[in-house]
Parts: sequence; C-alpha cells; structure tokens
Amino acid sequence: MLNKKISTWTKEYPLLKEMIDLQEVLWINPKYSSFKEAVDKISISQEDIIDAERRLERFAPYIAKVFPETKAENGIIESPIVEINNMKKELENMYACKIYGKVLLKCDSHLKVSGSIKARGGIYEVLKHAEDLALEHNILHLDDNYEKLDSDTARKFFGEYSVVVGSTGNLGLSIGIMSAKLGFKVTVHMSADARQWKKDLLRSKGVEVIEYESDYSKAVEEGRKQSEADPNSYFVDDENSKNLFLGYSVAAKRLDKQLSSMGIKVDSKNLLFVYLPCGVGGGPGGVAFGLKMLYRDNVHFFFAEPTHSPCMTLGCMTQQHDKVSVQDFGIDNLTDADGLAVGRASGFVGKTLEKLLSGCYTVTDENMYRLLSKMGDSENIFLEPSALAGLPGIVNLLTSEEGKKYLEDQGLEDKLNNITHIAWATGGSMVPKDIMKEYYNKGIALL
Ligand SMILES: *Cc1c(COP(=O)(O)O)cnc(C)c1O
Repeated sequence: MLNKKISTWTKEYPLLKEMIDLQEVLWINPKYSSFKEAVDKISISQEDIIDAERRLERFAPYIAKVFPETKAENGIIESPIVEINNMKKELENMYACKIYGKVLLKCDSHLKVSGSIKARGGIYEVLKHAEDLALEHNILHLDDNYEKLDSDTARKFFGEYSVVVGSTGNLGLSIGIMSAKLGFKVTVHMSADARQWKKDLLRSKGVEVIEYESDYSKAVEEGRKQSEADPNSYFVDDENSKNLFLGYSVAAKRLDKQLSSMGIKVDSKNLLFVYLPCGVGGGPGGVAFGLKMLYRDNVHFFFAEPTHSPCMTLGCMTQQHDKVSVQDFGIDNLTDADGLAVGRASGFVGKTLEKLLSGCYTVTDENMYRLLSKMGDSENIFLEPSALAGLPGIVNLLTSEEGKKYLEDQGLEDKLNNITHIAWATGGSMVPKDIMKEYYNKGIALL
C-alpha cells in the first residue's frame, strides 16, 4: 500500500499522472549506466547462463523424442528471426515518421511446444526441477541419454511429485504441457484474464486448471499456498524465479548466431536495440540480461506494457518495485493483452536490471490490435495482441523528445542507420484460427 498520497507521488513523478490517465508514455531510466558499472552487484553470472544452456542440451534428445515437432532442430526449441521491411513501411505510414536502421522480428510466437516466450523459461524450469529430482533419486545420471526419461519408470517416479504455477495463460501452458509430459501431477492457477482455449487445451492434457475471478497476483498467491502445504510439491514462482530467468537468458547466444548468419554485426558502431513486451518481467528480463552479458554497452533494451498494466514502468520509476501495484494508483489492470495483464512487477527483475534497463513505454490495446492486423496483412505473420507491443518502441525512440534525447545522450544521433531494432514477438502461433480472426477484425475496424 501507498505511504504517500497519490498527488504527492505525481508531483515527484509527473509522468505518473499521464500513466494514471492511461496515456501512452515513454519513460527513460535515469539510472541507466555502463555495463561495467551496473553489473557489479548482480548475483547472476555468465556461468549460470552456460549451465542453463548445457542443461537444455542434455535434455535435447528427450525433447526431440517426446515432441516430434522439435526433431528437425534436434530437440532445441528456438524461434526464427526475420527482417520485416513491409511492416517497417507500415509503421512509417501509421506514425508518419522515418525509421532508420533495420527492423527485425524475433518470432517467439512460433516457438515449438507452447507457442510463446514461455517455452524458454517455463520449460527450462520444469526440466531443471525434473533433473534435480531424478539425479537425487538415481533415476538418472548426468552422462545418460535423457531419452530414458520417456519411460513408464520415469513417469511413475515423477507422478509422486507435483508442480504448481499461477498464470495469465501462457506460463500455465508451458509449465502444464512440459510437466504433464514428464509425468508430474500439475496444477495451473489461472487468473481471470486467461483465455478459455488455453484452459481447455491444458485440461485435454490432464492438467488440473483452477480458475479465479481476480487477477494474476491472486492466482499466484493461491498457487503458492496450495504448493506450500505439500512437501512433494514444487511451486514455479514467476515473481522471483532465478531458474525461469536463466531459461530465458539462453536466448542471447542463439540470437547472436542468427544475427551472424544474417551478416548483422553488433559492436560499438552497430548497435542493437531490443523491445520486449513485459508482464511480471521474467521473460523480457531474462532475455535482456543474457543479451547484456553478451553485447554489454552495444545493446539497449526497452520494456513494453499495456497502458492499463504498466507495473514495471511504475515499479522502476518509483523505485518501489514490487511494493506498489498499478491498482494502488487507480489503474485497473484490464487489458486484452492477456500475457501482460500483471498489476505488480517482479521485484527481483526490477532490481537486477535497475541500471541496465534503458526504459519502458506503454501501448494502448487499440494500437496493439491495429499493429496485429497490419502485421498480418503486410508480413503474413499472426501474433497475439501482447506480442505487438514491441514495435511502437522503435517509433517512440526515434520520434519522441525523450527518445531523441536518449539517443543524443548515448552519442548515437549520427549512427541511426547502423542500428538494428528487434521487436520481440512473444506469442501467437497457438491461438485458434477463429479467435485470431476476431483479433484481426478488431484491428481492421480500428484502422
Ligand atoms: C508472459 C508473456 C510476456 C511477458 O513475460 P513476463 O515474464 O510475464 O514479463 C509477453 N508476451 C506474452 C505473449 C507472454 O505470454
């Protein structure tokens, strides 16, 4: 709860007034620092990321076996990246501006198995837990072929344990699908935002789905309570999990390979700007952290949120992190961008990225829908509303006063043509056709 009146807060942070009025804003982080200065007090290291990469490699033969759609990539779940020149032109028209540099789309929307960015962190955390248990009980050894986990013995073993998570939908999908495949009992606590088709899909895989009338924070709280009551239960703590964060961070080196193969350099003359839709913060935070470890001062990242759920912007700007929620300021946390419908951000992520985050901005639901339809028409790529929030960041940076000032402060005014912009498309390929059609039509009606 707030220890000061709202009017006192808005006096201190004038941008907050605009956020309360549900306007689109761009917040530049005044604490943004050089990598060297920022990284000192961070407890996660490059070794932790490498450990996560190795773990995913150990599991790859198992993943390829139980999810045949991943066979072509030998059980490594990774998404394509594409240059979107048609959409770049659409953006220029929509916002009447000139976009300098390359515009790429990282299609986590098309990650196999669970169709969203959660296929990184969520699946990783379940695998980590499964490995810990199996090693401890001699079901598995580090040098085994992990395909052996696709057996009745292993499933019977995991069946003695349960996995619990609270979610607005996509995390539930990835944790649910992966846990059920291994044989765990799994319960997903779904917030009111969660789409019916996600609940139906999970139930069809034997996952227990518990529904709430309230938002994400409540679903997490109830999940945590249930899990704590059972010693054989493991709670995936989206608000605080280092393992989720590490699963996401593995994206960085893989992206580096993809950029190299496209002939795109990242160095002090060729900068990378990345725009990531943000809910509680673990997904975008983990990916961004991995990229910072790799590219240091040559990468800048921004988080995108709905105007109705700007929890990370709020937490970082006021430096109150998870001590404040958007509801404390009368913001309702009601948005069609269900993956981003979070009222209180992760304190762990906000604090870890305190000096590494370049800034945050907000996007209206209407603009996400408009961009959704334009993306479909111009590139034939269909995304869920949340996943479109990355794109307007490019426009914000290049055209707003605050954005231009940031570029100037970083000495980049004359390097604009050398910037590669990546909008992180965080979900969408599993959305049923008829629902995608509804999304698309909504966008068309708004254009
Ligand atoms: C979960 C999600 C995000 C954001 O990830 P967080 O870890 O919640 O910040 C963005 N887009 C989509 C589609 C998501 O499902």
